[in-house]
Order: sequence, then C-alpha cells, then structure tokens
Amino acid sequence: MNQEAHGRGGRARKGAAGLETTVDALMDGVCADLKRLAAIPSIAFPGFSPEPVLQARDLLVALLRDAGVADIGELNLPGTAPVITATIPPPTPDAPTVLLYGHYDVQPPGDERHWTSPPFEPTDIEGGIRARGIADDKANLMVHIGTLRAYGGRPPVGINIIFEGQEEYGSAFDHYPPTDPGLFACDAMVIADTGNIRPGTPTLTTALRGAAELLVEARTLPAAVHSGQYGGPAPDALLVLLKALGTLHDVHGDVAVEGLRREPWTGATLTDDEFRELAGVPHGTPLIGTGSLGERLWSGPAITVIGLDAPPVADAASAVVPYARAKLNLRVHPRQDPKEALAALAGHLRRLRPFGIPLTVTPGEAGPGYEAATTGPAYRAARTALRRAWGADPVHSASGGSIPLVNGLAAAVPDAEILLFGAEDNRCNLHGPDERVLLSELRGALLAEAAFLAEYAAAYRPGGAV
Ligand SMILES: [Zn+2]
Repeated sequence: MNQEAHGRGGRARKGAAGLETTVDALMDGVCADLKRLAAIPSIAFPGFSPEPVLQARDLLVALLRDAGVADIGELNLPGTAPVITATIPPPTPDAPTVLLYGHYDVQPPGDERHWTSPPFEPTDIEGGIRARGIADDKANLMVHIGTLRAYGGRPPVGINIIFEGQEEYGSAFDHYPPTDPGLFACDAMVIADTGNIRPGTPTLTTALRGAAELLVEARTLPAAVHSGQYGGPAPDALLVLLKALGTLHDVHGDVAVEGLRREPWTGATLTDDEFRELAGVPHGTPLIGTGSLGERLWSGPAITVIGLDAPPVADAASAVVPYARAKLNLRVHPRQDPKEALAALAGHLRRLRPFGIPLTVTPGEAGPGYEAATTGPAYRAARTALRRAWGADPVHSASGGSIPLVNGLAAAVPDAEILLFGAEDNRCNLHGPDERVLLSELRGALLAEAAFLAEYAAAYRPGGAV
C-alpha cells in the first residue's frame, strides 16, 4: 500500500507513505494524553459540577495548540457547555476542507460498584485502557489530535474542528448548525463518535435509526372498585392496555403496525451469537422477530414498552384497576420520517378500542434517522484509508443510537460528505460500567484518519468532479 501510494505521486501521497511508522511513533504520547483527558470527570448533566467540563475544554485547547493549531475559538450557546472551534486553512486554494467532530463530555459513571477500577482513574487492561468516556468519545478526540500531530500541524487539507462539550445530555447545539452554516463549511466531515462493528473489522456507519416516543393511557373507572363485587363486567384498565400492547407485534414478534417502513438490510451485520453476547440474551431464550438481524435492528421498525404505570405488586389490592398507562419507544427505518411513523403507531392504537374502550394516545418527541450518500470522493478515499489501517475491506453498518447533531450538520452543509468512523467497537461498553478502548482500534482509527486526509487531498477536484 505504501509503495502504491508513493508510486502514484502527488505531494500529499508522498507525505502519506510513511504514515504507519509516524502513527506508531505517536501512540505512546496519544495514550498518555488520552489518559489525562479521561481522568477528568467531564459530565455535562444537571447536578454535576461544571468545573471538570471546563477543565477538559482547557486541556483540549492546549493539545490543539501544541498540535500546531493557531486559530482556536469557542462557541457559547445558552444552557450549553462550550463548543471548541478551530481551523487550519487549506494548504493550497484547491485543497478540500475536512471538518473533524468529537465530544469531550461523558456519560455519568452510574453505580461505581459495578466498575472493576474507579471510572475516572484510567487503568491499563489487556490491549487497552479502561475509564468512563475513554471510548465515547475521548479516544476519538485523540484520533483527531493525533492526526494533526502526524502531519506536524500542516495536514494536506484544510481543517475545521468542532469539539462539543454537551453531547450526552443534549443541548442547544444540536439545532444550531443550520443557523450558522459558515462555521461548519467543509467538503467532508468525520463524525468520530462511532467505531467498528467488531474489533479489527473497519466499519463506516452509514445509517442511524430514527426514534420517537408515545404515551398510551386507558381510563375505565373514576376509582378502583372491589374485584369480588365488580370484577368481571367492570372494565379493568390494565387489561385494556395490555390487550392494546399485545397487538403491536405478530405471533413471531415482528412489528404488526401498518405504515412502518421495513426493507432488507444490505450492509454488514452482527452474527446471532455476537448479538446474544452483546445484549446478554441467554442461549435457550429465542430472539424475537423474523428476517436478518440487520433488518430487525436497523432497516425495520422496533417498538419497545419502556415504562408502565399500574399498581405495583407490593401494593396490590383486590380491586379492578381504573387507570393504566404505558410509554412506548419507537425506532424507525433511517429514511422514514419519524413523525409519519409516530402517526402510524398513534393511529393503530386509536383504532383499537379494546373491549370497545377508547385509548388516549399522546405522541411525544420524534428525532429523525440518517442515511449517508456513500458514492462520493470522500467515501472512496475513506474506504481506501480504512482498508490500509486495518488490513481488511471496510463494511457498512448502522447504529441504533441516534446522533442528533448529524442531521443538523447535514442541513447546514448539504453538499458535504459525512463519514462516521472511529476508535470505538461494539464491545467497548459505552454508557455502561467498565467502558474501555482497545489500542488496536485507537491506532487503526488514527492511521485511518491520517490516511484519509492524504487520499482525499490527492483525489479531490474543486467543484466535485473526480
Ligand atoms: Zn458519543
């Protein structure tokens, strides 16, 4: 690969020939700075001190400056941790600009008793490092900084850096980009908040599911009444609700609501065994639904009952339940409008009238999914770069989790290609206890990003024709 890159000439490609050696030499420093960053409990949730968030901001600004970035700014929005902005101008007028995104806030650690080592004491483990936020998303920030180091602060493309400080909790920033598109101007962006479907399998995440929520209520009586005296004819609200919830899936467990898009999944997917292990589904317990796992997980709908209000067993009286409600979480095909999907689900529930009793249905929030256009020059360059970094053909995958900002960025810069890859992998326990990053994945992501900049710079022609 080195030889070939060298042979095809071009300033950027010549500079890229020794990237493996350069990246290997950088790894110790990258890991040391990653540990410094991960030792800061930068949790941007209410109830946590805002100080560590600012400390992480300060460290990143210093690391960017040390990596040769002169033009560093900050965006402050109401109720939102600072967004670090920075730019490096393109080396030549016809070079492209690449936006590098990551976030420096982390999820709360949860119950620390479930951690093998304290969450904010980065700890070396076999082949990796364990700490809260080390994978999501601090390793990916170090991928960006490491990439700048690999080029001595003078990469072969223009750079536009966006390091967000309140991704995990959500903030005013999610909807900001379309209001200030100039800040996000670029030809391609690397949203480094994902990773490989499994360690060693280079993965471009090209689709994100949409999501929506809905409340459904059954009110049958003004108050509870004696189940011996009235039970039978007196309508039980919980039974009414359960009968409604029972119609959401067919006998196989496939979603039975009309109007929810479902298509074959054409990208890579987990094996059933990988899925079982990751989700903790014991052998002997069947998986629900039919069709490929990718179709059930990503290109088809899922409906989950995430909450139910009814008398708890401990307080159960011998009484007919007058009121019950459930909260449903809906996940939809990346290209289906989640509001349309939500309307389909709400319509289904409203039409039901179990035992003739109408339900009260209240649609909630809906967030769109995302599907990338994958045929442009940045995708071609990224596929070459990922193959070089991991020595295997890259696959396309999807993520069930949403990244709300992706849609905001796509709206702000509609012509930019959006790439999602990074140092995470499916077993890094993000948001759970014992989060970890593998050094093999960190090195791979760093090499991939550095190689991507070189490939993209060499292939890019202003105006888009390549
Ligand atoms: Zn993240």
